[in-house]
Amino acid sequence: MRKKFIAGNWKMNKNLKDAKLLAIALKNKLAGVNNVTIAVCPAAVCIDAVAQILKDTNISVGGQNIYFEKEGAYTGEVSADMLLSAGAKYVILGHSERRQYFKETDEIINKKIQTALNVGLLPIFCLGETLEEREAGKTFEVVRTQLEGGLNNINSEKMLKITIAYEPVWAIGTGKTATKEQAQEVHKFIRNWLKEKYGMEISEKVIIQYGGSVKPSNAAELMNQPDIDGALVGGASLDPDNFADIVKFK
Ligand code: PEP
Repeated sequence: MRKKFIAGNWKMNKNLKDAKLLAIALKNKLAGVNNVTIAVCPAAVCIDAVAQILKDTNISVGGQNIYFEKEGAYTGEVSADMLLSAGAKYVILGHSERRQYFKETDEIINKKIQTALNVGLLPIFCLGETLEEREAGKTFEVVRTQLEGGLNNINSEKMLKITIAYEPVWAIGTGKTATKEQAQEVHKFIRNWLKEKYGMEISEKVIIQYGGSVKPSNAAELMNQPDIDGALVGGASLDPDNFADIVKFK
């Protein structure tokens, strides 16, 4: 049985003081919840402080991006090792906002995934179609291309360290959630793709999160689908009550 994995993507929200307050609130609200894997992903500058607050708790910390080079003259960038040394366990890669605003291609995302794994960070690899692509009937084609590109040269051992987050772009931050049937259909497609590439055993172990306007009121119906193994939560993860209610979905 796959353990559900729920992660909060705080995006470019919460300064140091507010990030600490949110971490403290979550620490209290989620104490003792061990049936779900939990992570929060604050801005890079807040990772150290949040990780210290959440040390020895059931909540892990992740970053939202890295650069693919190991180190060097890349002004403004943050390396995988820097995130790890600040206390991150996970890193979100390939988020649609990075693809859209920062022109990240599947090739760049693949390099970042390899770099993260090389230092021991666990990638949360995001993918998903735009509304235009869905309406043109291209959802599976787009998802397949993103899987092939993002997971190029990833062997079975590495694949087991990666979480996939299916996030239809039209559902991110829009309040529009994919129906449980729409989401399950794509998750099943992803699992079948994994089965073809890595075999049954590995495909059954990989965690596939859903992301896109997940909130307390829709978390349970999504999470109860056979191939939905958790959620990547944006907006609702900024409020401790909402995030805690999502984690404790029933
Ligand atoms: C996200 O950015 O990963 C996301 C799913 O955002 P939201 O929950 O706000 O739609």
